[in-house]
Amino acid sequence: MRILVVEDEIKTGDYLAQGLSEAGFTVELVRNGLDGHHLAMTEIFDLIILDVMLPDVDGWRIVQSLRAAERHVPVLFLSARDGIDDRVKGLELGADDYLTKPFAFAELLARVRSLLRRGTVQPIVDQLRVADLVLDLPGRSARRAGKKINLSHKEFSLLELLVRHQGEVLPRSLIASQVWDMNFDSDTNVIDVAIRRLRSKIDDDYSPKLIQTVRGMGYKLDDEADD
Ligand code: CA
Repeated sequence: MRILVVEDEIKTGDYLAQGLSEAGFTVELVRNGLDGHHLAMTEIFDLIILDVMLPDVDGWRIVQSLRAAERHVPVLFLSARDGIDDRVKGLELGADDYLTKPFAFAELLARVRSLLRRGTVQPIVDQLRVADLVLDLPGRSARRAGKKINLSHKEFSLLELLVRHQGEVLPRSLIASQVWDMNFDSDTNVIDVAIRRLRSKIDDDYSPKLIQTVRGMGYKLDDEADD
């Protein structure tokens, strides 16, 4: 389990990093908001412990950015502010819990474990993403660069398959069996037609182009252009 700790107070940061490491977590400690913001937005953590008052970018901004980008990592706010308004603001912005300094490490650990448990009770991956393409699995909808893309049921299934296997070449036969539940028939161009339609929706107006044709083999979805 990987935890990001963003805390500018040297002693508190060290104390958290040491305690959490001893409790068996992998801890990434950063001491300012800018680094915290960058890591939170670009790397995968199981939990983020976020001080509110930070140099550069405060904890509120970080949680706001995370939620705006639909990153659902649990966030525990840690702050010397104990006003009810601050707690409410933190929770409304999308934090999952709020602990006031000074705190007992045992309580922090209990809250951390509870937040992580909540995550494992529902091990639902409800989103897939590649570059700026986001698939919402429960809603079977997609967005690219924040814009909603209307997809048919089959188009969504096809896109989901490609995204789940990003970077892999998927032969037409596999796509046919997975998405259309049919055996591949070389006479049918249903897959090519569906790919073309999908491309026009998710790639034509955007860059990088995600769906690639691998001649003689099939298709793959990748966010790095091959050439
Ligand atoms: Ca602080």
